[in-house]
Amino acid sequence: MAENAGRRISILGSTGSIGVNTLDVVEQLGGRDAFDVVAVTGNANVALLAEQAKACGASLAVTADEACYGALKEALSGTGIEVAAGREALIEAASRDADWVMAAIVGTAGLGPTLAAAKRGADIALANKECLVSAGELFVKAVAEGGGRLIPVDSEHSAIFQSLEDDQHHAVERIVLTASGGPFRTWTREQMAGVTAEIARAHPNWSMGLKISIGSASMFNKALEMVEAKHLFNLTPEQIEVIVHPQSVIHSMVGYTDGSVLAQLGCPDMRTAIGYALTYPDRPKLNVERLDFAKLARLDFEAPDEQRFPALRLARTALERGGVQGAVMNAAEEIAFHAFCAARIGFLQMADVVERVMDEMVGYGAALTMDDVYAADAEARRRADDIVSRTELAA
Ligand code: NAD
Ligand code: MG
Repeated sequence: MAENAGRRISILGSTGSIGVNTLDVVEQLGGRDAFDVVAVTGNANVALLAEQAKACGASLAVTADEACYGALKEALSGTGIEVAAGREALIEAASRDADWVMAAIVGTAGLGPTLAAAKRGADIALANKECLVSAGELFVKAVAEGGGRLIPVDSEHSAIFQSLEDDQHHAVERIVLTASGGPFRTWTREQMAGVTAEIARAHPNWSMGLKISIGSASMFNKALEMVEAKHLFNLTPEQIEVIVHPQSVIHSMVGYTDGSVLAQLGCPDMRTAIGYALTYPDRPKLNVERLDFAKLARLDFEAPDEQRFPALRLARTALERGGVQGAVMNAAEEIAFHAFCAARIGFLQMADVVERVMDEMVGYGAALTMDDVYAADAEARRRADDIVSRTELAA
């Protein structure tokens, strides 16, 4: 019975791409017989959230959108599943006593709930890179103080985590983040200038949510991942390399002082990283496609082009400047992403907006407390909004 089942888990952002894959992994590993699902959360997609809550036997279902409360309540009436709505309810859900919490809300909206789960001491399976880019060391510290483990789910960071030898962190020379290059890998800036969100979201290898798909096309996703890697693995900016690898088979690598490079490979399927985070340090048995090396035949690599993809240069700037610049880059990128999706600015202007906000806020100093992070985030959003409005007027 679900009530008496083993591990208590919660899935924040269960209705998204990572959330759906997480529930698939949970099902593959025994479903209600093996896991006791404490909470699932979503936003406006109430029908899917209700269906998921019933299928996995969740105790609580939360929609972030208060306007959706009635619909969710109705969809789950008579099931005994508790229903709640709104930001505070999300944080309350994240604070319930799950042993393992999948943090798969997209964007900075994931920060509050993920921090709440971390402070309570849950193991955090971290898909939401934005909260680490934004809160950095403070987030890592919150997890450590809570006593839970921080297990990366982002495929690159999972690969690095898997390729890091215990007790050999002192011998790590560099990490190499692989990037598919996205749909515009071979495009000129002139070609990219006129693309719409519909075109930009079509990723060649991975099937993902909207924000990360656009971020893969602009390489802002890789930019966020560079900062994510710094905080997860305590690296200097010089230790973080990016290489374009169009097949997305090598998910990332760790280079050691003896010249060895360890890598993790697999088909591009997030369920491998999710499963690893769920059963770590054991490896689960998963029904995912296996790599066929003969069919693959070759692996290609290219140096990233920071002229065509300035996001990578901006990430390096954020890493070098430190302090709240991660929060600033993250917040400005979120605003620029929404403005691009609403056709208010062009594809290339996303990086322009982010760069201007980062430069304007260069004097904003250290992130000593979460209040510093929230203040920098709010100020960066305000400035990015302002720049977007002026860009729009000038167009
Ligand atoms: P998605 O857009 O498919 O899903 C996002 C989830 O967050 C949904 O459940 C949605 O309902 C919820 N949500 C949206 N806005 C919200 C809000 N304001 N408040 C609360 N909940 C809200 O996104 P995704 O692709 O699954 O990505 C989730 C996170 O995982 C992102 O941070 C992304 O960068 C990261 N990630 C995703 C992938 C992938 O393959 N999709 C890979 C690596 C990392
Ligand atoms: Mg990734």
